[in-house]
Amino acid sequence: MADKNKRAVDVLDKDSLIVVSGAGGFIAGALTKYFREQGFNRIRAIDKKPLDQWYQRVSGVESLQMDLSEKDTCTKACEGATEVYNLAADMGGMGFIERFRIECLRSILINTHMVEAAYQAGAGRYFFSSSACVYNTTLQADPNVRALKELDAYPAMAERGYGWEKLMSEMFCREYWAEREMKTFIARFHNVYGPYGTWDGGREKAPAAMCRKVIEAEDTGNYEITIWGDGRQTRSFMYIDDCLDGIDMIMHCDKLIATPINLGSNYLVSINDLVSIVEKIAGIKLKRNYDPDAPKGVAGRNSDNTFIKQVLDWQPATPLEEGMEKTYYWIQKQYTDRKAGKRTVS
Ligand code: NAD
Repeated sequence: MADKNKRAVDVLDKDSLIVVSGAGGFIAGALTKYFREQGFNRIRAIDKKPLDQWYQRVSGVESLQMDLSEKDTCTKACEGATEVYNLAADMGGMGFIERFRIECLRSILINTHMVEAAYQAGAGRYFFSSSACVYNTTLQADPNVRALKELDAYPAMAERGYGWEKLMSEMFCREYWAEREMKTFIARFHNVYGPYGTWDGGREKAPAAMCRKVIEAEDTGNYEITIWGDGRQTRSFMYIDDCLDGIDMIMHCDKLIATPINLGSNYLVSINDLVSIVEKIAGIKLKRNYDPDAPKGVAGRNSDNTFIKQVLDWQPATPLEEGMEKTYYWIQKQYTDRKAGKRTVS
């Protein structure tokens, strides 16, 4: 069904320069690999992390360490670009974004300079990775939440720090189209998960954290798990492959120019349900301890996919159990590799 939607391979020649920022991270690393596997010969992947800390290094790609909060660096990053995918941001799961709001807000520098640099470079299309955290938090006070439609971002009462940065950066993208006719595209991601993402260290999100905790419990023989909040908070989770397909189709859909759109699963589960899924994969049952003081975010959040289904006749569909199984086994390998003293990606 989604075949009628245009993708990069349909509209670009293989020597067009694709710039991907945040490429040392989870989603942009996977996106870089995705384009490379489709035969694009000129991909410029950029991240501020040293190259040996990137989650994925893709061969045949120009991989550069650059800090994109600087204007001049963004100018260099976008030189000659046909398309720019800006996914760089200082971010993490709830534990990070509730604690480091200033760092999150500072990511505004990245998009501010990147969108201007892309414009100056004459890039044909510009993609910005926004977030469900832009939505009005007062609409997310109940675990049995009504799924969020694109219009629910206004009147604005975004997540402090991270959400406001995303909302303001969206506005930049919208105005670059309105005033300067640069084609910008804005996807509001709802929790993305999968292999090659952060699974440890404080920036990890719930799916990876739950996998790691279950693996730790199994390994140590301490069959307990600590869950942040009461475990009844609800979310939807999108597998990375769906996210990549969505980015590609959104970026090449002219109906979506400068129009924020949800990119997320609409399969709502509680954090308790998520733990049960991971327990089933691991084949164990754990005693659940709840930490009411830990960061837990809004009570409930889901993606209303009416708009994306209407425009693209598509929505993310990888079953949660299937995606979590792949994620679990990847994290388990990282865990055992690290224990054996081998280098891992998180
Ligand atoms: P990630 O942390 O794995 O990747 C982001 C990358 O950006 C990191 O590697 C980081 O080093 C890099 N970066 C930060 N500041 C930079 C700078 N000044 N210059 C260059 N690079 C810089 O995160 P991710 O999960 O891959 O997220 C990618 C994008 O998607 C982000 O914009 C994020 O806000 C957005 N998003 C992600 C999710 C999710 O569930 N993962 C949900 C909503 C939105």
